[in-house]
Amino acid sequence: MKPRRPAPATPPCQTGPGPRIVPPVKPAEDLCRACGMCCDGTLFDLVRLEPGDDARRLARLGLPLAAARGRQAARFPQPCAALCADGSCRVYADRPGQCRAFECRLLQEAKAGRVSFPAAARRVTAAKRRANQVRRLLRALGDHDEQRALGERFHRTSERLEAGTADPAASAIYADLSLAMHRLKLEAHAHFHTPPAATPESRVAGKLRRG
Ligand code: SF4
Ligand code: SF4
Repeated sequence: MKPRRPAPATPPCQTGPGPRIVPPVKPAEDLCRACGMCCDGTLFDLVRLEPGDDARRLARLGLPLAAARGRQAARFPQPCAALCADGSCRVYADRPGQCRAFECRLLQEAKAGRVSFPAAARRVTAAKRRANQVRRLLRALGDHDEQRALGERFHRTSERLEAGTADPAASAIYADLSLAMHRLKLEAHAHFHTPPAATPESRVAGKLRRG
């Protein structure tokens, strides 16, 4: 009988640079490490695997993969289980094709010199502040599910509040939440999502975002 190879242990953090950057270039690495929004559930709900991704290995490395079903590719949710607190990717060497390919618009512009890295860092800080405001308002409305993507949490909270009779205080918080979410989407659309024309190979197609 063929001896079984031991399963790889879940790697510790600090095995790779910031989430998306290829190749690691210091200012870009710093920007991505400070950001992480394409991995932490702010910009995307999930990542789809592509042909060539090693689903078994990724599962053994600790990614909670949902198996392919029918025409749906295998996928894993965001916030990503491989995202470390310091912004690095725990499975950097093995990360899926979508993760290798994706560079947000802001990173592309900074690497091309059209935006300075300090200005890009300020943009990231502003977007993260907005995302944290959304998280605070969701918690105020009873959603503490930090393991789910922001879009999904907003959608669920909206359904819950719109189905019932919210008291005036909750209605006021929900109004603030809706506005904060709208502004976050505008920010994401303007500076982080890549335009379809720039992605003929559909870099973004494998990552689903809500709304
Ligand atoms: S959203 Fe952009 S800047 Fe932020 S981690 Fe992803 S690629 Fe880097
Ligand atoms: S595997 Fe997870 S942490 Fe690593 S780049 Fe992909 S989404 Fe980000």
